[in-house]
Amino acid sequence: MKKIPVLNPATEEMIGEIPNQTAGEVAAAVARASLAFPRWRQVTAQEKSELLHRIARGLRDKTEQLAELLTREGGKPLRENRDELGWSASCFDYYAELCRHERGRVIPSIEPSQLALVLHEPYGVVGAIVPWNYPVLLMAWKLAPALAAGNTVVLKPAEQTPLATLACRNIFSCLPGGVLEIVTGAGVPTGEALVRHPGTDLIAFTGSRETGRRVASICAGMVKKTHFELGGKDAFVVCEDSDLEVAVKAVAWAAFLNAGQVCTSAERVYVHRVIYREFVDRLKAFTESLQVGDGMDPRTDVGPLIGAAYRNKVEDHVAEALRRGAKALCGGRRPTKFKRGFFYEPTVLCGVDHGMKVMREETFGPVCPVMPYEDFEEAIGLVNDSEYGLGANIYTHDARRIKRFFEGVWAGTVWINDPLTDNDAGPFGGFKASGGSRELGLEGLREFQQAKHVHWDFEQKAKPWWFPYGRKS
Ligand code: NAD
Repeated sequence: MKKIPVLNPATEEMIGEIPNQTAGEVAAAVARASLAFPRWRQVTAQEKSELLHRIARGLRDKTEQLAELLTREGGKPLRENRDELGWSASCFDYYAELCRHERGRVIPSIEPSQLALVLHEPYGVVGAIVPWNYPVLLMAWKLAPALAAGNTVVLKPAEQTPLATLACRNIFSCLPGGVLEIVTGAGVPTGEALVRHPGTDLIAFTGSRETGRRVASICAGMVKKTHFELGGKDAFVVCEDSDLEVAVKAVAWAAFLNAGQVCTSAERVYVHRVIYREFVDRLKAFTESLQVGDGMDPRTDVGPLIGAAYRNKVEDHVAEALRRGAKALCGGRRPTKFKRGFFYEPTVLCGVDHGMKVMREETFGPVCPVMPYEDFEEAIGLVNDSEYGLGANIYTHDARRIKRFFEGVWAGTVWINDPLTDNDAGPFGGFKASGGSRELGLEGLREFQQAKHVHWDFEQKAKPWWFPYGRKS
């Protein structure tokens, strides 16, 4: 069987390898998950809830070991990975409780002798495909609601970051056999085999828009239910009444967290012209103070990018912007102090416009382009001038502007004075090309449930509207 090497992006050393599983092996995993489904569907809400809480406890108990693996395979600073594990555990706890809450509703019936119900049923086998930037969290966001809803799951982690997911197998061993199967490998053959298999009833996919489009076209041909969480190009508006010191730190955090490899990274910043000069001077100084390095070093603020191809894309976006007249106030290159590793200096660009890739396409790196605006309506127009609509941020104390902003921007999440904060109870997902599905919250559970309408008459009486028409029966 062919193996795929797993590299540490900070050192480029091989730290493990995984099987590149074939369509036949994926089919065997789907068969086990299908077999487990009828039994899992009957498990009581109380029992499911206890199992999901047990997984949450397992993640908390193993935080140090898993966080280290996540840093070694994904490059994120250790502290961010500890946070990731805490959020993942919290997501399992949330759905452990939500699944005990209700399983549908009673609706008004047509006749007094009837009962009408809406039941939320599982789909069956969910094929879950996740990317490398938050391997355990994005797994949790699918797994917890899918299992809570009564589905079984075949999960494929990203080929760059499978090790922490595989290390969670011990934690998942509390689940009955076949309820969760993990397959490893590249998008093709392994991911696509999961998508194409007739035994997967729903494909829940988080990744790039390009892959999403391919998965969508396969599923459309099979009339298979899909759930998409795709890319973003989030905007961040800083109004002239903001506390500049806080706003600068907020923008830097939103742009450079996980080296800018967050689907909701601030990739376009719009600052009111009266504070623009001071804002960019302060942002440049703060950005230059950030420590780039190996995520295992506790002093590191910004780790490496995940791989060479991803860094090439970042370099391409910056080079195109510079060619078209933008200026790098800091960064704009690989740091010279590292001989190995996929590092890139946190970069602040000015002189940018919406004709540049860096303002239109997802860069997914530590690049923060900043553009001045004159008028608040102009800023809203700029925010909405994107194919994507995942999240949008604003810094201001002005309630009128805040209301105008959250009503006017076309994005799945609006953050006001607190960028990138997720809430288990709040739905997360995109408008427009960012996907259209939702994770977290009650909406996240509904994605893994299909409604069944039950119409029940207690009596057996012939109805006056039945055949025969036009004559007495
Ligand atoms: P990607 O699309 O290349 O890969 C994502 C996953 O899909 C991986 O597991 C990969 O192996 C698999 N895959 C690749 N080709 C496939 C195919 N033909 N069939 C089935 N599976 C296939 O994305 P990436 O570069 O790993 O991740 C980064 C992207 O993910 C960015 O665009 C980012 O914005 C997006 N993302 C979105 C969210 C969100 O919630 N909206 C969250 C995190 C990341």
